[in-house]
Amino acid sequence: DVTDTKGRDFEDFFLKRELLMGIFEKGFEKPSPIQEEAVPIILQNRNVLARAKNGTGKTAAYIIPCLEKTDTTLKSIQVLILIPTRELALQTSAIVKEIGKHMGVQCMVTTGGTSLKDDIMRLYNPVHIIVATPGRILDLASKKVADLSQCQTIIMDEADKLLSPEFQPVLEQIIGLCHEEHQICLFSATFPVTVKNFCKKSVPNAYSINLMDELTLRGITQFYAYVEERQKVHCLNTLFSKLEINQSIIFCNSVNRVELLAKKITELGYSCYYIHAKMQQANRNRVFHEFRNGATRHLVTSDLFTRGIDIQSVNVVINFDFPKNSETYLHRIGRSGRFGHLGLAVNLITYDDRHSLRRVEQELGTEIRAIPPVIDRSLY
Ligand code: ADP
Ligand code: MG
Repeated sequence: DVTDTKGRDFEDFFLKRELLMGIFEKGFEKPSPIQEEAVPIILQNRNVLARAKNGTGKTAAYIIPCLEKTDTTLKSIQVLILIPTRELALQTSAIVKEIGKHMGVQCMVTTGGTSLKDDIMRLYNPVHIIVATPGRILDLASKKVADLSQCQTIIMDEADKLLSPEFQPVLEQIIGLCHEEHQICLFSATFPVTVKNFCKKSVPNAYSINLMDELTLRGITQFYAYVEERQKVHCLNTLFSKLEINQSIIFCNSVNRVELLAKKITELGYSCYYIHAKMQQANRNRVFHEFRNGATRHLVTSDLFTRGIDIQSVNVVINFDFPKNSETYLHRIGRSGRFGHLGLAVNLITYDDRHSLRRVEQELGTEIRAIPPVIDRSLY
């Protein structure tokens, strides 16, 4: 379940102990979202296209699985990290060395503009991971100084720069010198057409990760209503009668409460579906599809459904139960920025929720106001 990755720890990747030590000593406590998504897929030896904003931790997202895969009992080059510029290559190899410092992994950096002889000398010693700019590594590999025949993992960082049209033949040659069974992982903040064309040709069946669609609360007016737990259904009924709901999604914090609430809403005389994590996938798909087609006005759900909200006709989201953290709140209420439409979010807040409400406001830098007696129709 893709929504089930929140709050994952580095321990959950089942990494070698020496690697975990390096990660923690680097000061990383928890994986960033791109790390959370990319690490397990790279460990599965799959091709990957990973897109995420600058500064989100893409470097460690590939260095960690590369280190994990490296077998230090072998003497061969097992990982090739391709980088467009010399400075970045140096910086990247420094991070490999830092995170891998307890592993006995040998990492070498090789770039243009330095002595080829020195590189040749260094390659007499075992090297497991090579960080390189394309021209230099092709030079070394085609001279048979660097043996890439056992290299099964190829990383391309800053892929948009790396894959400029004049570089592409060089990269294809390099790939041709690597192990026949290899994986290619591309990391970039943008994927221009030139990259896409290269991928079609040289990176088959790639698993695509795109974290560029950030959720935003822009355009969404957020209110809270103080209620007691036993008044919640009554309050919901009032909202239904007062608001002009096109379609609504109503969130509960547990599967049981989803089913119970859906039943109550139906008893109140409203058409309503529910969807939750304990349902069969086929059932979930059917309900989601029918809701999307407007078969019913209301959908009650648990956090399973957090990413589905980009349904254009949903203009009201109700937190029947207030979510446990701000990330969940954002996933429930937020929409991806590309869709500029308006919406209304109403949070039913019990006495126990009052601190969580303020925390969410603070952490997301947003404002959740007390619900007014009349809500301006132009807001949603
Ligand atoms: P990107 O390549 O996506 O632009 P970087 O890999 O350069 O981003 O990482 C940006 C910064 O975030 C670096 O200073 C890095 O040390 C830090 N960083 C990366 N992953 C984590 C993490 N899991 N926890 C804390 N800091 C991290
Ligand atoms: Mg980077």
